[in-house]
Amino acid sequence: MFDHLPSPYGLVRLGVAPDHPKIKTSIRVYEKIAAHEDYAFWGNVTVGQDVTLPELQRHYDAVLFASGAATDRRLDIPGEDLPGSYTATEFVAWYNGHPDYRDHEFGLSAKTAIVVGQGNVAMDVCRILAKTVDELKSTDIAQHALDALAESSVEDIYMIGRRGPVQAKFSQKEAKEMGKLEICEPIVTPSDLELDPLSQAEYDDSGNQNAQRVLPVLREFSERPSANAQRRLHFEFLKSPVEIIGNGKVESIRIEKNRLEGEPNRLKARGTGETIELSAGLIFRSVGYRGAPIPGVPFRDDWGVIPNDDGRVTEADKAVPGLYVAGWIKRGPTGVIGTNKPDAQATVAALLDDLASLKPCESRDSEPLQATLKERGVRVVSFADWKIVDAAEIERGKAVGKPREKFVRVDEVLALLDK
Ligand code: NAP
Repeated sequence: MFDHLPSPYGLVRLGVAPDHPKIKTSIRVYEKIAAHEDYAFWGNVTVGQDVTLPELQRHYDAVLFASGAATDRRLDIPGEDLPGSYTATEFVAWYNGHPDYRDHEFGLSAKTAIVVGQGNVAMDVCRILAKTVDELKSTDIAQHALDALAESSVEDIYMIGRRGPVQAKFSQKEAKEMGKLEICEPIVTPSDLELDPLSQAEYDDSGNQNAQRVLPVLREFSERPSANAQRRLHFEFLKSPVEIIGNGKVESIRIEKNRLEGEPNRLKARGTGETIELSAGLIFRSVGYRGAPIPGVPFRDDWGVIPNDDGRVTEADKAVPGLYVAGWIKRGPTGVIGTNKPDAQATVAALLDDLASLKPCESRDSEPLQATLKERGVRVVSFADWKIVDAAEIERGKAVGKPREKFVRVDEVLALLDK
């Protein structure tokens, strides 16, 4: 298993919110697999940069890509890249201690923050902005993020969805959490929950079970008397950002009101032409992740995935022998951790079916690959190395009452291993 970072576990370590520790227990399954004598971890190695695909194929009969979705979709609106407008991807990676994002800074001195999108990632971003340091300090949130959030001036958070409450993608559990925060109250305008006939049909139809679970939570929020809380999370529906405005930095956002069109369960947002401008100093775009290409590997740029036929990588609709794909880079950035289990099983079944017909690699001895990487100045981090880092992180965490204090720079990890 090759990883760009000197740590395993990808999104479980660096994407799952720090205040959702239960989800991270899936790491135990991976630890069991890693204990198998035929498993090897090659951390701190970037495939396509430190080692090419043909070099890997010299030593392995098959290569399976499970590289996820490392970038984000764009809104394609004017002002999107103004300072003060960020992607959820960056913010999530930053508060989780991803080394590539350690030095990012976010304009947390703004009083109003806008989060575009209504998925579970948008919920994570809103919750981290809404929580106090006390609510976060005993999680594994990176210390640099906790320090910056302690100075946050954010008072109003607007979570903006382009469609209605029935089409919101966040789950019930995540919605409920928003009603239990220390200094932040959820605000839902009651009239926003009066459904148009198409949404009502969608709601009544069991096809949208998420809405049946989420809507009662939103209804309960809409009936709450104001708590005059220090922070407010405003749920906004049927609104699309059309322009981010500012002179050198974000000052406001222009939003167009939408109506819904089409078939229930496939309703689309259409602009009404009516716009409003909302002052805000901080914007997070949380409209979905996007896969990134790997040099030498087929890639569908329009979908942000590696083209495949049920896990077999394809090029011009033909399977490329020995190349496989699983997870978000196979099917796009949707679904929870558990969704990847049947997805990976299907890919591995395809690999096992092909096994007898695969062209064997030149040499199964991977020692020469270790030597090549060493020559290139790449310090490969093994699973035994990772266990040393893991233990050190847990020890550092004990001192500050956290489950772990992550190392947030690759240099720090390598210095620990080679001292
Ligand atoms: P998501 O669930 O697909 O949500 C993306 C959101 O962005 C949707 O509300 C979508 O609206 C909106 N959107 C897309 N394009 C837009 C545009 N051009 N303008 C305005 N809004 C736009 O994706 P995600 O939140 O990134 O999450 C990815 C996956 O990880 C999901 O399956 C999620 O459940 C999972 N996840 C789970 C957890 C958890 O279990 N706690 C935590 C984090 C992530 P439309 O619906 O209109 O397209």
